[in-house]
Amino acid sequence: MNLIASFQVDHTKIVPGIYESRVDEIDGGFATTFDIRMKTPNKEPAIHPNAMHTIEHVVATFLRNDEEWKDRIVYWGPMGCLTGCYLIVKGRPKAQELQPLLLRAFEHMAGYEGEVPGATPLNCGNYLLHDLPMAKWEAARYAEILKTRACYEYPVAERLVTKDGTFYDS
Ligand SMILES: [Zn+2]
Repeated sequence: MNLIASFQVDHTKIVPGIYESRVDEIDGGFATTFDIRMKTPNKEPAIHPNAMHTIEHVVATFLRNDEEWKDRIVYWGPMGCLTGCYLIVKGRPKAQELQPLLLRAFEHMAGYEGEVPGATPLNCGNYLLHDLPMAKWEAARYAEILKTRACYEYPVAERLVTKDGTFYDS
């Protein structure tokens, strides 16, 4: 099997930022998946599952209500490695164009008070798996990164090419 696109990125060189992960053409239109990377993989603690779950709920609610972008939001959800989230939008915007939206979303998360939206047995598959204070802390930290030092270009992994083809190590 071929290595899927997101595993071809050199994860030892990723830093927090916003990256175009893949572009899919669907019936003549485009859907673009963005890697919303909040942590440096394998070099700093990942986000706790409870905090990530709260970020999923609060930021999803924000994105789907944002006047400028709500009609283009296809999907928002956490990465299994807990170092960031995926955002899928209609069209082919550049990663930098998402920065104002994500800054709004994470500043909203950082200052969020009250009930976590959808954190009930009726609306969520694990409604006790939440941590609002840690979600706010993580969001404030990522908002600061977005304002000051977000990266927008993926480091591409070098592949060893042999006579038998390209070697994939992951
Ligand atoms: Zn949930």
